[in-house]
Amino acid sequence: LKSKLPALGTTIFSQMSALAEQYQAINLSQGFPDFDGPEYLQGRLAYHVAQGANQYAPMTGVVALREAISEKTQACYDYAPDVNAEITVTAGATEALYAAITALVRSGDEVICFDPSYDSYAPAVELSGGVLKRIALQPPEFTINWEQFAALVSERTRLVILNTPHNPTATCWSADDFAALWQAIKERNIFVLSDEVYEHICFSHDGHASVLAHPQLRQRAVAVSSFGKTYHMTGWKVGYCIAPAEISAEIRKVHQYLTFSVNTPAQLALADMLRYAPEHYQQLPHFYQAKRDRFIKALAASRFKILPCQGTYFLLADYSAISDLDDVAFCRWLTQEAGVAAIPLSVFCDQPFAHRLIRLCFAKQDATLDAAAQRLVSL
Ligand code: PMP
Ligand code: GLN
Repeated sequence: LKSKLPALGTTIFSQMSALAEQYQAINLSQGFPDFDGPEYLQGRLAYHVAQGANQYAPMTGVVALREAISEKTQACYDYAPDVNAEITVTAGATEALYAAITALVRSGDEVICFDPSYDSYAPAVELSGGVLKRIALQPPEFTINWEQFAALVSERTRLVILNTPHNPTATCWSADDFAALWQAIKERNIFVLSDEVYEHICFSHDGHASVLAHPQLRQRAVAVSSFGKTYHMTGWKVGYCIAPAEISAEIRKVHQYLTFSVNTPAQLALADMLRYAPEHYQQLPHFYQAKRDRFIKALAASRFKILPCQGTYFLLADYSAISDLDDVAFCRWLTQEAGVAAIPLSVFCDQPFAHRLIRLCFAKQDATLDAAAQRLVSL
């Protein structure tokens, strides 16, 4: 068989979680909470199952959920996307990203992304015959050089993929970044794919800056989110994308033959949660900021150097004072010998700095974080 993706193996998330299991390590690698989502949400799922909401949902998503998403978007970003034409519910953010890239990128199109970037973008671009142009961001701030960005934009550029709050660097875009992006692309017919799955885990005083809050950019943008992150239910795999009607129509052509529709009772339960318990997502930054601060404080006595963390439930740690191993080898060693699993940064980019950094997930119970910190401090 001649592979269409010859350079690709199993994702690092599956690999590291399997290794953590094998060595009974504390798993701070793959990003998922070790606690459950709200009881109210679980109750609503059971309720809708019992009510018989167990057949196919509409292709674009259950109406009540699309309405609740529109209301929430209005409350957060002062913009209410059209319930029928502009919101599509997908099987997690992963499906929304894949469907959007497949719908927008044609063979030979150039796609700009930032290095490091989440691992699902590149294979989707490659399968569509697109050509990735990467802009390297440098630690510790990982800020964007907009002159460098402008130099990369050409008549071949079709799409820009960004992610804020950013996995894996834990940095966030500001409204100024979106303004700079608009200046750089406004003269050309370029689309924007804004991966905002951690929109409710942003620790900045100004809150999360969304592409949807930018009136011009949102006319060309696809904003992607995921209930897995917001409600501590990564296994439910329900996400969505918001895009202008013309773009949504193209994304739906892909979505209808990729999955067609998404789990009906989960969508109804999420609609109830969004509408009747908005305090959950409003309090989420505080919830995760407390975990971040607890973990960083506990690691202060270690030889790891922790990089600034403005959002997401990940942080980066520099281990150069502890080991000369490459990041991939260090993560294996850390799992097997120290009993803590982490993600090597070089899987998100092949920059030299990546080979001494690891990503740690702090979406864990306090007891798990304390136990992990104790092991890391002893190194
Ligand atoms: N984008 C980013 C940046 C992510 O971190 C993740 C999952 N951790 C996803 C997309 C995929 O989200 P989902 O699990 O809803 O498919
Ligand atoms: N997005 C999660 C992470 O960054 C993992 C998702 C997955 O395993 N595909 O850890």
